[in-house]
Amino acid sequence: MFPTKPKQKRLIYMDHAATTPVDLAVKKAMDPYFCQHYANPSGLYQSSREVNGALNDARRKIAEILHALPDNIIFTGGGSESDNLAIFGAARKHQKSGKHIITTKIEHHAVLLPIEQLQKEGFEITFLDVDECGRVTAEQVKKALRHDTILVSIMYANNEIGTIEPIAEIGKEILKWRKQNNTSYPFFHSDACQAAGSLDLNVEKLHVDLMTINGSKIYGPKGVGVLFKIRNVDILPLIFGGGQEMRLRSGTENVPGIVGIAKALENARKNSKKENLRLRKLRDYFWQQIQDKIKKVRLNGPELGDETVRLPNNLNVSILDVEGEALLLYLDEYGIMCSTGSACTSQSLEPSHVLTACGLPYEYAHGSLRFTLGKSTTKQDIDYVIKYLPGIVERLREVSPVNLTCDPKKNLHPKYHQR
Ligand SMILES: *Cc1c(COP(=O)(O)O)cnc(C)c1O
Repeated sequence: MFPTKPKQKRLIYMDHAATTPVDLAVKKAMDPYFCQHYANPSGLYQSSREVNGALNDARRKIAEILHALPDNIIFTGGGSESDNLAIFGAARKHQKSGKHIITTKIEHHAVLLPIEQLQKEGFEITFLDVDECGRVTAEQVKKALRHDTILVSIMYANNEIGTIEPIAEIGKEILKWRKQNNTSYPFFHSDACQAAGSLDLNVEKLHVDLMTINGSKIYGPKGVGVLFKIRNVDILPLIFGGGQEMRLRSGTENVPGIVGIAKALENARKNSKKENLRLRKLRDYFWQQIQDKIKKVRLNGPELGDETVRLPNNLNVSILDVEGEALLLYLDEYGIMCSTGSACTSQSLEPSHVLTACGLPYEYAHGSLRFTLGKSTTKQDIDYVIKYLPGIVERLREVSPVNLTCDPKKNLHPKYHQR
C-alpha cells in the first residue's frame, strides 16, 4: 500500500532551480509599468522619457550590484537568450582570430547547444571533464587554453547538483594568459542564472567579460534576462531591428520585466546572507532525515558542509531501485513538487548529462531526485515530505522493481500511459 493521502493535501514546492514565484515586492514594483507607464521608452515625449528613466534606473541598479557600468548591462528575453547572445555573439564576431572554445560537460543546454551548433559550423570545442562532484579546476582550463581559443564559457553554479565552480580562479588564469601572450583572447563568459540569488556577483572579483543572469530563478519575472558585457568586448547581435540595447538586442524593451529583475536582484543582495544560512540548515536536516528513513540512498554533487562548493538550497539524491520519474509523479499526488535527472519517459531515455559527467552509474542517475528549497520552504514542509517519501519508495521497490531498460509501458506510474 502507498501511504494514505493526507486529508488536507498541501502544496510543497521544492523546484526553485526550475523557477521561482515572483516576489510580491517585485510584482508591486512592476505593476505601474503595465497600464499606467506604458509609453515606449524610445519616444521623445514626457511619458516616454519617464519610462526611459525607469529603464535607466534599473540598468544603474544592476550595474552597481555587479560592480559594472550601466552600459555593460544588456537586457534580453531571458537566460537562454543571454547565453546564446554571449556565445554566438562573441564567437561569430571573433572567428577570424580563432575558432577554439572551451566549456564544460555540465553546462545548461542554453550554453551546450549553441556551442554544439558552432561545432557544426566549424569551431573546435574542448568540453572539460568534471570530477565526481561536478567541479572543474582553473588548472584544467589553463591546460586547455590555445592560441586560437577565443571564448571560455563555464557556469557559475550548476542547476542540477548545485556545484559552485571556481569562477574567480579561472578568471585569473585567463587574465594571466592574456597578459603573457599579449592578447585580448579568450573572452570569459559565465552563466550565473543559478548563482544570482545567493552568490557574489562582483564581476571585478570574478574576472568575467560576459555574464548571464535571468529573472525567473531569483523571484523575478520570467522571460527577462541580463547579459553583462564588458565594454571592450565586441559581439554581434542575434536580433536586428530598432537598435535598442546599444544595437545588441533590438525590440521594444520589456519595461515591467526589467524593473522586476532589477528589484529581484536588489532583494537577493539584501537578503542572501541570512537566507543562505537558513536554507543550508533546512537542506542539511532534510538530507539527514532521508538518510535516517530510507535505505540505499546517495548524495549527488559536492559535500554539504562547505558553503563555497555547493548552492545552499540544492539537495540532489539518488534512491536506488526506484525510477526517478515514477517517484516524482507519485510525490506529485501528495502535493510535493521536485525534479529528476532520470528520463525514462523522454524520447532519448538518456539520464541527465550532468549526473553522467560526474560518473554516476546509470541506475543511480535514473533514481535521482532534485529538491531545491526556497524562500517559502519551512521545516514543516520537509517533515511533510519525510512523512510520505519513505513509504512511497518502499512501495515502489515492492511493486515495481526498477526496470533499467526504462520501458515506459512497464510498471512505472499510470500517468505514463496517459501521455
Ligand atoms: C534556467 C537557466 C537557464 C535558462 O534561463 P531562461 O530564463 O529559462 O531562458 C540558463 N542557464 C541556467 C544555469 C539556468 O538555470
